[in-house]
This record gives sequence, structure tokens and C-alpha cells, in this order.
Amino acid sequence: MPRLLNADCHIHSEHSDGADGVFQMVEAGAKAGLDVMVMTDHLTLPYELDPTSDVSIPVAQLPFYRADVLAMDHLSRSKGGPEVLLGFECDWYPGCEGNIERWTVGAKVLLGSVHWVSGEGSEGWMDDDRDLHVWEELGADEVWRLYVDAWCRACESPANFDVMAHPDLARRFEAEGHAATIDLAPLYDRMAECAHDLGKRVELSTAGLRKPFHDYYPALALLERFRRAEVPITIGSDAHVAGDVAFGLADARRHAYEVGYRSQQVPHADGSWEECLLVEE
Ligand SMILES: [Zn+2]
Ligand SMILES: [Zn+2]
Repeated sequence: MPRLLNADCHIHSEHSDGADGVFQMVEAGAKAGLDVMVMTDHLTLPYELDPTSDVSIPVAQLPFYRADVLAMDHLSRSKGGPEVLLGFECDWYPGCEGNIERWTVGAKVLLGSVHWVSGEGSEGWMDDDRDLHVWEELGADEVWRLYVDAWCRACESPANFDVMAHPDLARRFEAEGHAATIDLAPLYDRMAECAHDLGKRVELSTAGLRKPFHDYYPALALLERFRRAEVPITIGSDAHVAGDVAFGLADARRHAYEVGYRSQQVPHADGSWEECLLVEE
């Protein structure tokens, strides 16, 4: 009989761009009644993308991140708290695979993300609210097209991401003057086809509920397509502060159930993935 587990599969700490330590995040997870939490700090990036390690773990700090997560898992379990898994949120960029293999030793979960778009005459982070130059220079329609191209290449990547995080991150500024004007249906169809054909899981993220557009990633129409394509889901808060750990997870499970999903997949430290109930049936 499948179990209902409370799992947050996307959490950041101060090892990358989060505000709080792993200890605080785990303490918050225990308080929220989590059974499983996956620490997914941003994997180290090459110098050209993050010269001052603003958003990612500096390479020299990787062993400390690993040791910190393992120690907090041990401490948490000794107190009957959540299982804490070592993971990374990995940016996909052309040629990332060697770096990902080198830098993710010991990880149980790799999230695949596209945050960087590269177009004709402009490139940069697409989710940085202090710098919207790619949106202004390329326009939302072109950012969407480039994003979906990169997303499908990330699905195909030999880095073999376990889960594609916040699948339609290109929604990020849609309530702030950067909404697509093209019909997104063909792009959604392509994403569902890529995820299905390449055997990817996708994330249902509650992070968008804390942004001005106030909705899940992915949008309902895209989540429905993933469901029809039988693409499995994980659920994550993308917390960067302790107060956001487990944010909106119970509502997200109900939301997925209403869309027609009957399970979420939950990873464990032994490398297995458990098919878990979304609601008590
Ligand atoms: Zn992300
Ligand atoms: Zn994240």
C-alpha cells in the first residue's frame, strides 16, 4: 500500500544563495512535519557564469556542503526527524556535463534547471529581479522560445537530471510586464513530449505562489499536459529561507490530485524513488 509522505524536494541554504544554514532549514522541516527533505543548493558554476560565486557553491566549499548535509541528516534521524538528502540544483548550459559529473559526487538527487538564456545579441539570467536586461532586449516571446529549446536540451543531457525543476520558469515576470504574447500551447506540447520521451520527472513548485504572478510552476495547462503524457512529479518549495521550507506542499498535493495525478515520487538516501499518495484515499 503506497504511503502519503510529506516531502520537500527543493531547498537552498547559505551554502549557495539561501539565507539560512542547513541546520535551520532542517529544524524548520522537522517543525513542518516533513518526512523527507532534499537539500539542493546551486551547483558550482564556471567562472563566466558566476565569477564571484554569488548564486552557486564555490568549488572549494563543496566538501563542506556535503559534510554539513550528511551531518544534519544523521542528527535529524537520531531525533526522529526528516530524512535529509544531499542534492544539487544544476544549471544546464552547453558543455555542463563534465562539470556536473566532477562536482556532484555523492549526490542522491540532481535537479536540472534552465536559468540562463542566450539569444541573438543578449544573454543572461532570466530570473534575476534586479536585472531584467534579457527580457528587455529579447522580449518575452523570444525568451520563451530560447528557454524551451534549452529546456529540451537539458532533458536530453547525459548529465541525466532526476527532476526538471520549475519547468516554466519563463513565467517569472509575467505579472510584471514580461508575459508572452505568442500561443504557448505548441511550446507546452513540446515540453511534455521531451519529458515523456526522455523519461524525466518534473517538479510541481510552490515558489511561484510567493511571486507576483502567484501561481504554481508549471501553469495548469502545462501540468495537465505532463499528466496526460504520464510524466511523474515531485513537489518542492524552492525555499531560500527557513520560513519557506514545506511552503504550500499540502495544497500542492491536492492541486496535483485535482489535475488527475494519483502519486508523487519521493527519493530516499538509498537511491530509491518511492511512489507516494497525494491525498489519503
Ligand atoms: Zn531554480
Ligand atoms: Zn532553486
